[in-house]
Amino acid sequence: MTTLFISDLHLDADRPESTAQFLDFMESEASQAEALYILGDLFEAWIGDDDTNSDNALIIAALATLKFRGVPCYFMHGNRDFLVGRRFATATGCELLTEIKVVEIAGDRVLLTHGDLLCTDDEPYMALRAAVRDAAWQREFLAKPAAERRHIADDLRAKSQAATAAKTEEIMDVNQDAVETAMRDKEVSILLHGHTHRPNVHKFDIDGVEATRIVLGAWYEQGSVVRWDENGFELATL
Ligand code: MN
Repeated sequence: MTTLFISDLHLDADRPESTAQFLDFMESEASQAEALYILGDLFEAWIGDDDTNSDNALIIAALATLKFRGVPCYFMHGNRDFLVGRRFATATGCELLTEIKVVEIAGDRVLLTHGDLLCTDDEPYMALRAAVRDAAWQREFLAKPAAERRHIADDLRAKSQAATAAKTEEIMDVNQDAVETAMRDKEVSILLHGHTHRPNVHKFDIDGVEATRIVLGAWYEQGSVVRWDENGFELATL
């Protein structure tokens, strides 16, 4: 049986092709899987579980159907949908994972994370991340009316896009020291993440042991998936 990993779908009403591809994936491959891991940024934006956007309802229903079919689903927050909460978990049956987690997949110990916490060279982003992941900030934000939250989220997104345009590719990639520190700390030789939208498999050496970093791609133009079974993993385009 195959375990599936996806991330960075950035599902949004403005890009119905991506939502259609996700719904198709859920009906086909995901329904036959051992488990599905969503490693963050499933949604382009998430302003709280109480948001009644009709597209979100379709996505939630697809996740609930998967659970009903007996396929466990695990959800890790991304930098766009870090406000996904308990109500979402209850509605979908997805289990929410902590921001960095070791799981055992077909006999391999794999470290999972969205990827943004490894982008330590991007100091302004790391500061913003710390601010919005703060429990008090989140409580205050979620207490605001939905329209105001949407406005703040749009504003943050516009600022982030402007800042991204001014940053170099290197600054927005993961920091190799942060990668190796996390892997040493968790005693793993395999790391799987998304976020950077640079699908690839990187091999390097940690203390004389071969290490592997697998990076999932975004779903803007086509889907990206990692399939993992007893023969190992495969990074594929849908
Ligand atoms: Mn991301």
